[in-house]
Amino acid sequence: MVSPNTNYQNLKDSYLFFNISQKIKAYLEKHPEQHLYKMGIGDVSLPLCDAVIKALHEAVDDQASKASFHGYMPECGAEFLREAIRQHYEDGNVMLDADEVFVSSGASDELGDILDLFDKKSSALIMEPAYPAYVDANVMAGRLIYHLPSGKNNGFLPMPDENTKADIIYLCSPNNPTGAVFSKTQLKTWVDFANKNGSVILFDAAYEAFIEDETLPHSIFEIEGAKTCAIEICSLSKTAGFTGTRLGYTVIPKTLNVGGMNLNKMWVRNRTTKTNGVSYIIQKGGAAVFTPEGQKQIHDNIRIYKNNAKVLSEALDELGIWYTGGKNAPYIWMECPNGMGSWEFFDYLLNEIQVIGTPGEGFGECGKGYFRFSTFGSPEDTKIAAEKLKALLKK
Ligand code: PLP
Repeated sequence: MVSPNTNYQNLKDSYLFFNISQKIKAYLEKHPEQHLYKMGIGDVSLPLCDAVIKALHEAVDDQASKASFHGYMPECGAEFLREAIRQHYEDGNVMLDADEVFVSSGASDELGDILDLFDKKSSALIMEPAYPAYVDANVMAGRLIYHLPSGKNNGFLPMPDENTKADIIYLCSPNNPTGAVFSKTQLKTWVDFANKNGSVILFDAAYEAFIEDETLPHSIFEIEGAKTCAIEICSLSKTAGFTGTRLGYTVIPKTLNVGGMNLNKMWVRNRTTKTNGVSYIIQKGGAAVFTPEGQKQIHDNIRIYKNNAKVLSEALDELGIWYTGGKNAPYIWMECPNGMGSWEFFDYLLNEIQVIGTPGEGFGECGKGYFRFSTFGSPEDTKIAAEKLKALLKK
């Protein structure tokens, strides 16, 4: 008789977004006339840029004629897209070969699938608070998980010490939910730690395009030594509005070996077995992101989100509230005022000013007493929400 994967019994139910939606529903039943200022979820609100839309249309037309039709695509990604991404890294002074870039359907898929490369006995170290998929994917695989808490004392950027244990290390920078970004010096410490301990860093760079401070690293491969200890997982979801279109990429250097085995070669074997590649049409749309026109247009959109972040950060500065993020990330992670709990603060904002955010507690223990604002909403709503927040908390 077949047996289930009993590790699934160890998954904790996530009530975060369910609880939020229930609270909103109950509020609107009582106050159907009220407009809500939604700054809770991390989905984009702006459409795909013109360069991408044009490329998608052209790719659809290609599929209509025998001469330009594409069937199965190469499992690891189309050459034209792998090369465009390689060039994009080169523009940021990171030298890669195109076959170190693997095209994916998004970062979430990769964060789970990539664990195929490691023995079940390898432990995972997860910086927290964190994107929930890291923990859940490792629980499903039955891995030993070490939690690496962070807090106000280290600006939500935890560093390794002599007691840190881990085989697989999850780092996310700019971070969701805290918006905190590791400096080059901090990442160098992590890279040295990983090389010394024979660990592999899974570096989630889903929000790298939001970095504006030129001293901060967009890629872990800007750090010397990273090519022997790191995998970078990227996404076009927030960078270019692909949350519903689905496209990402993963970089596995050819110099990354573990226990005498080469992770780049293993991933080629994995992809050629477990996928038949990403759709031609979507990859064509993705390639348009890396053209000069595409880069300009996606950054025009990112600027709109970043302006939302500026409006909210200025409100918090005026109120003297401590927060991380906002400048180089689309999230703002604030300390709840007057010692309020995260859910208490959620209820307070909903009832008093109809502003919705996300209680930090939903991202793990060290999120208690913190609150996340996403800046992917409309500029009009964000401005009004910031004014309302100032008026409420100045009272
Ligand atoms: N990594 C982080 C840190 C995220 O916040 C998200 C989405 O919110 C993802 C990965 C997933 O990205 P994708 O849409 O490419 O699956």
